[in-house]
Amino acid sequence: MAQDFALAFYHSKAWLECRAGYINSVLGLCEHCHKQGLIVHHIVKLTPENINDPSITLDWSNLMYLCLDCHNAIHADRLSTKENYYFDEKGNLCYSPLKK
Ligand SMILES: [Zn+2]
Ligand SMILES: [Zn+2]
Repeated sequence: MAQDFALAFYHSKAWLECRAGYINSVLGLCEHCHKQGLIVHHIVKLTPENINDPSITLDWSNLMYLCLDCHNAIHADRLSTKENYYFDEKGNLCYSPLKK
């Protein structure tokens, strides 16, 4: 799942601590369906260009904790992400629930 350029990042102490703290903050539940979560997803996808940018890689506002199903759905574009995210006046990425 992790691409080569990101392997060192995914094994870094900074990420593991960030990830653990984030999972705690959402009580270990998928943020989409509230089942047991499994994967911390980066909303702004990691690339070789931003992999050393902590405001992308380690910023909680760029993370989502998801179960496997929801994570797969996001990556398959079955679950819409883009239109449900917006930036507030402070520039924080915010999420609004799925529009029906
Ligand atoms: Zn889920
Ligand atoms: Zn993902």
